[in-house]
Amino acid sequence: MNIGLTGGIGSGKTTVAKIFELLGVPVYYADDAAKKIMNEDEELKDAIQRQFGEESYHNGELNSAYLSTKVFSDPLQLEILNSLVHPATIRDAATWMTRQKTSYTLKEAALIFESGSAEHLDYVIGVYAPAALRIKRAMDRNHLTREEVKQRMDKQLDEDMKMKLCDFIIYNDEQQLLIPQVIDLHKKLLDLSKERQHG
Ligand code: ATP
Repeated sequence: MNIGLTGGIGSGKTTVAKIFELLGVPVYYADDAAKKIMNEDEELKDAIQRQFGEESYHNGELNSAYLSTKVFSDPLQLEILNSLVHPATIRDAATWMTRQKTSYTLKEAALIFESGSAEHLDYVIGVYAPAALRIKRAMDRNHLTREEVKQRMDKQLDEDMKMKLCDFIIYNDEQQLLIPQVIDLHKKLLDLSKERQHG
């Protein structure tokens, strides 16, 4: 069984993913994987260079500073880059998933619905935190201004809509304890996986 884990900037996706890892669940981190694939997949590298120019790579290494300036000011260019990178990452995740031996795996990704990745997953977990808390966490962690965080948030699907699309929600709002919620959901997912095997 393959499960997605998503949430907006600063919602706590990675924090939640680490708790699942402690329970023995293998986690695929889509952002990290995408960066690796952009440096290693020759077909993708060619496509990026054709679209954004030779300067996209320097000595074979992704020139992310250059690429960022190209895509962050132009939504169409960002969409084009995503349309190249997302399918390659979805393929890589699918191969990774088939290699895991556990009852279920997790794929952590901010853009799980936007990228089309959710269609390949059995369930999606959403990590919810109120916008004010997400902004504060992202400002503290990434040393960004409020405006910079808001700009990044605007590029993502509306949080309420995203949570409605999720099958399970974990509340990381500093009101409810995180670890017990993850343990409960882990038990539920193990049961669901058993039901699938026997049904
Ligand atoms: P992004 O998409 O921006 O990478 P994320 O959803 O993966 O973010 P995390 O990296 O898990 O979020 O959390 C963002 C920051 O908030 C981190 O510095 C993390 O330590 C902190 N944080 C997350 N959850 C909590 C919590 N319940 N209590 C205190 N700090 C938290």
